[in-house]
Amino acid sequence: MAQIPPEMVELPRSGIRALMDLAWAQPGPVLRLEVGQPDRIPPDHIRQAMADSVMAGETKYTPNAGIPELREACAAKLRIVNGIEVEPSQVLVTAGSMQGLSLAILGLTTAGDEILVPDPGWPNYDMAARIACTRPVAYPLDAENGYLPDPATIEPLITDRTRMLIVNSPSNPLGTVIDRSHLEQLCELADRYDLWLLADECYDQIVFEADVAPSVAPLSPDRVVSVHSFSKTYAMTGLRVAYVSGPPQVVETLTKMQEAMVACVNGPAQKAALAALEGPQDFIVEMRDTYRRRRDMAVAAAEELGLAHHRPEGAFYLWLPLGSRIGDPMEFCRRLVVEHGVAVAPGSTFGDRGQGAVRVSLAAAEEDIVSGLERIAAALSD
Ligand code: PLP
Repeated sequence: MAQIPPEMVELPRSGIRALMDLAWAQPGPVLRLEVGQPDRIPPDHIRQAMADSVMAGETKYTPNAGIPELREACAAKLRIVNGIEVEPSQVLVTAGSMQGLSLAILGLTTAGDEILVPDPGWPNYDMAARIACTRPVAYPLDAENGYLPDPATIEPLITDRTRMLIVNSPSNPLGTVIDRSHLEQLCELADRYDLWLLADECYDQIVFEADVAPSVAPLSPDRVVSVHSFSKTYAMTGLRVAYVSGPPQVVETLTKMQEAMVACVNGPAQKAALAALEGPQDFIVEMRDTYRRRRDMAVAAAEELGLAHHRPEGAFYLWLPLGSRIGDPMEFCRRLVVEHGVAVAPGSTFGDRGQGAVRVSLAAAEEDIVSGLERIAAALSD
């Protein structure tokens, strides 16, 4: 048999997936707090738009960069909501932010380059970097700094091969929202070393102390490539629509690459995304209030149970840095599923700094979240 590159064979599998499989395989009920997707379906007008599009026979390829009306609506949303000034031609519609992020990594780096990725951070950055034959270099997010990126600890990691810094705010798994001053410092660092800043803002509108998380692009429009998604904001994870925006030449290049990868995003799903932007936005407010209520309740429960936790300001996860007493996080999470009937994500899947931690999803019913935290506390005293 011809050889499969060992780097690809050895791509680490997501620990979350492994836990999901284990939870599915259990004979009895398991509280599912490991998943990273909203527990709701999109509002009627969004689903109706997709159904109408299919029934109207809109089943052909669309332009590579997306249907023009969606690119226009995305540019308007970026301007009004995020303060990012871009023309519709600077917006590329992608099959979820996962594809947008991978595309940006492939388009802006060459094999052997280094990419700075957050630790703890979403595991797909590491995978996407490896698929692009680049080297992911973890930069620490420490509790002492409120889990915010600290330029002083990032700078020593920069070499002459470093090409890109990935910034995720609000963060999965930490729920941190990076403030403007930290974003400015990251831009200065990127300027000094001529790095691309890849901003994953897929939870931009799921924040609890404001309407939107600050965006990095307005601070350095020439070196920031932003990724926004419909998945979390409108509970559309399976419809796979997101959008990349950035400098004109970047979007032009990525659009060309799009042709060889997916050609375009599913047309009816693009119509659903358009309906999401053009329709009423009360779903966002309702979901944000729901996640905030669950956050408050989960934090109160964690406090009462004596579980170490980081209070999230955005996204929908509660990070529990429980420490060395949990031993191997993957093993601890397996035990939680099999012996205590609760599935959570092992911290180690988010990087070395996630050792000793677990991530609890707040995209679940309130009673399940509280019961899940009680079971974790019980497992710790086994
Ligand atoms: N970025 C982060 C930080 C995420 O947590 C996720 C999904 O969990 C994504 C991107 C991917 O989202 P999408 O469905 O838009 O591909």
